[in-house]
Amino acid sequence: MADTEKKCDICGSKFDSSDNLDLHKKESHQEKAPKIKPQVSKSSRYKATAVAAVIAVVIITIVYFSDGATTVGTVQGVQCDPVEAMYFHVHAHLDLIVDSKSVTIPAGIGIKPNECLYWLHTHNTSGVIHIESPKQDTFTLGQFIQVWDNTPGISPKFEDATHGDVGIRVFVNGTEVKASYETIILSAHDEIVLVSGDVPSSIPSSYEFNGL
Ligand SMILES: [Zn+2]
Ligand SMILES: [Zn+2]
Repeated sequence: MADTEKKCDICGSKFDSSDNLDLHKKESHQEKAPKIKPQVSKSSRYKATAVAAVIAVVIITIVYFSDGATTVGTVQGVQCDPVEAMYFHVHAHLDLIVDSKSVTIPAGIGIKPNECLYWLHTHNTSGVIHIESPKQDTFTLGQFIQVWDNTPGISPKFEDATHGDVGIRVFVNGTEVKASYETIILSAHDEIVLVSGDVPSSIPSSYEFNGL
């Protein structure tokens, strides 16, 4: 009878009988690598994954809503952002002539002080429309005028300045465009003239943007 028969081949412990060795192996080794525990840890790993997924959804939801909260308003797809988005930045110029008189385009159209700026706005009374958005896009004069009439504290509103005229004529770079002024696309350095009432004998065809 060789000693090795009663020696544990795993830990080297010696036993006086094969039965005791078998018992030792069963108690000290087989049960230390039970098959139940990995299953428990596996399922708890699934639980951890599920918890992580829930946390991720919660974080994404919070980010989504806090992101939404920083967007103060949107008028016809034109967003009002807390900071000026300069990725896409071009300028057009607007003249408004009502009953043969030039109407000053108000400063601050599309600007809610200490709150946000719409992608379409005016910084002064020059008639320069600033188109400043985080992505290159096509914007229309109609969108600008909607922003104009939806900016608090701006006087006069476009609607009031034009007495609600639905027959406004539009000239782009000196040429009359037979379309609704609302559909006019704001392109870089366009000179846009809107006329309500009599059309003046000379319509400006360009504007000196001075580097804008
Ligand atoms: Zn600006
Ligand atoms: Zn600008």
